[in-house]
Order: sequence, then structure tokens, then C-alpha cells
Amino acid sequence: MLIDQLKAENQALKRQLDALLQAARANEEKMRRFDQLEHQLIGAGSLLELLRMLLGEYRAAFGVEQIGVALVDSEGETRRLLQLEQPSDSTLSAGLRLLDTAAPLQALHALPWKPWLGRFDPARHAGLFSAMPVGMLRSVALLPLSRHGQLIGSLHFGSTDPQRYEAGAGTQFLERLSAIVSVCLESALNQERVKRAGLTDALTGVHNRRYFEHRQLVEISLSIRYRQPLACMFLDIDHFKRINDGHGHGAGDAVLRQVGQLIQGQLRLGDTIARWGGEEFVVLLPRTSGVQAAEIAERIRSAIAQHGLPLPGGGELPVTTSIGVAMLRIDPSIREPRLIAEGLIKNADQALYAAKEGGRNRVVSGPEPGSFEG
Ligand code: GH3
Ligand code: MG
Ligand code: MG
Repeated sequence: MLIDQLKAENQALKRQLDALLQAARANEEKMRRFDQLEHQLIGAGSLLELLRMLLGEYRAAFGVEQIGVALVDSEGETRRLLQLEQPSDSTLSAGLRLLDTAAPLQALHALPWKPWLGRFDPARHAGLFSAMPVGMLRSVALLPLSRHGQLIGSLHFGSTDPQRYEAGAGTQFLERLSAIVSVCLESALNQERVKRAGLTDALTGVHNRRYFEHRQLVEISLSIRYRQPLACMFLDIDHFKRINDGHGHGAGDAVLRQVGQLIQGQLRLGDTIARWGGEEFVVLLPRTSGVQAAEIAERIRSAIAQHGLPLPGGGELPVTTSIGVAMLRIDPSIREPRLIAEGLIKNADQALYAAKEGGRNRVVSGPEPGSFEG
């Protein structure tokens, strides 16, 4: 009898122990995955990558049905930085919301800011998840993201399991996650700002040569891969030295800014404009034939010629530009993208030289059309 009792007790103990071990293993496994994710988040190379991880990989790693991120973006800076990296990204459009003010987040998170776990309330929570129908959600975790005493955003998890996020459950993991995501977000934003500053010409606000040289390689490979024409334009302000000499460097700088803006005004979103240096600008036009490129160049030339620089004493200082246009040509003997890029620039520069020789304030197209012109 006693032995049977002992056996039964032993079995009960063993079951308890198994359950505990299982829970510990599950926790350990969760820890491990969390640790992995934490490392990934910290290692994200860009804001876009960070957001993709949160909205994509986190969902997969932890089996969360719905994830939403809301970020305060009162100046529209985050939007611009993301557009610069990737004009349209479906992962982001599904889960990311950019807010004009922190007010909606202040309504969501009471002080002291801590993760909130509880039942899904359609009236309060439906707007936090923009992907898929949210009607099936039963529980949510809402994580405030804050830096330096300010709410900068909010991270939302939604589950169809009513017990997944229960009020009163431990929030250690989630607290840690929200702290890490907050720091990563701030650092990614800073990184983007620095990146952007390093790729922008401070005087004119258009891209600088460094950015152009990188972008040019990307556009050249795309153009070759998809057999689409790529046009390049080199612009040089005519007799710019005279403007500086006659009206001062301040006027010269103002002309540079104005010309940069006028060129930009004639371009599409996928085109690239950069200040090459001094009073020279360079433009890349993907998917543009030689005929179209010459038309666009002519529009730019004419827009600049029609807008002189307003002078303080009234009247306008006339400004003209000379423009050389060249098409990407495929020479099977040249495979190195950098050399192809150099060739394209050289041809545009030669056409520009011809425009100067021909009397300035004109457009000259390069020696011959591209090999896959439409
Ligand atoms: P051309 O019609 O043959 O192009 O004559 P140009 O006078 O425009 O050409 P040149 O190369 O002789 O002169 C370019 C001038 O641009 C000389 C330089 O001082 C001036 N410059 C270069 N960078 C800047 C800048 O950032 N601001 C101002 N104000 N001037 C600049
Ligand atoms: Mg010049
Ligand atoms: Mg010049």
C-alpha cells in the first residue's frame, strides 16, 4: 500500500517536474529567440531594415498575428528619410503609421509608460493594426516607445488567442523590448540624418557627387539588366565667373541654389540630380530615350534662361546654362560598372564642351544614341 502511494506521489512529482522543466525550456527558447532578435535589431543597418525586422521577422519568430508600429513624425522627416531609401515598401505600408502629433499615443499610454496587456477592444485598438481584418483579434500588447521623457512611438502586438496577452501577466520581456526598440529607432534615425547630410550638397540642397557616383552604378546595372535606356545630362552655368566678379559670391551662391531648384522642378521622382562641383550639375534619367532626354534638357535650359536672379535694386541678372546629353552605350568589352559610368560621364561632358563651343545657352546631344534606345 505504502509503496503504491509512494509510487503515485513520485509520479505526480515527476509530472510536476516535467511541467516545470517544459516551462523553463519554453522560457529558455523564448529567451534565445528574443536574444537573437535583440542582436538583429541592434545590428540593423538602416531605419528601413529596423522597421522591416519589427514588422516582418518579429512576427515570424514569435508567431504574432498582427504587428503595428506608430511613430511620431511631426516634421515629416521620417517619411522623407524612408522615401529616400525605398519609395514604396509593402511591408511598411501594411504595418507602419506615421503620426503628425504625439496626442494619439498620449491617449493610449498612461504614465508611467509601461507595456499594456489586455483584451482587444475594437473601438480603441482597431486603428492600431492596419493590415488584414482585425476583427479576429482577442488580446493585445501595447508597448510605449519613449526617449528622453518623450513618447516617440508605440509598438502593437495583436493575437487571436485571448490568453496570449493577459492583464496582470509579466511584462519583463516586453518592457525590455520596448526599451531596445526605442534606442534602436533613435539611433537609426540619427544614422539616416548623418547619411543624408553626407550625401547632400549643403549650398544647393541637391545630392552631392558622392551620392551621384553611388546611384549611377545602381542605375547602370538596372538599365543593363532590364535593357532600358539611361540618359545622363551634364550642365554648366555660362560665364559664372562674371556673375561672381560682377555681383559678388553671395549672388553666385544664390544663382547656384536657384539653378539647382529649377533643374529639380523639371525632373521625375526616379531621376537623380546632383551638384558635380563648382557651377556644374549632373542629372541621370532612367528609362529615358535620347529624344526624350534632349527634350527634358531643352525644358531645363529654357526654364533657367527665363528666370534670372532677382537683384536687390530691382531687375534680374540673366543666367544661362549649357547642357550636354549622353546615352548609356553598351560596349561588350567593358564590363566594369565603374568604367561604364566614367564613359557615360565623359560623353556627356564632351557634349557639354560642344555646347560651350557652339555659343553656350544650348543643348547638345552626344555622339550616338544608346544601343537599346526605344
Ligand atoms: P563657362 O561659360 O565657360 O562655363 O565660364 P565660367 O565662368 O562659368 O567657368 P569657370 O570655370 O571659368 O568659372 C567657374 C567659377 O565658379 C569659378 C569659381 O570661382 C566659381 N565657383 C565655384 N564654386 C562656387 C561656389 O560654391 N559659389 C560661388 N559663388 N562660386 C563658385
Ligand atoms: Mg565649369
Ligand atoms: Mg561655367
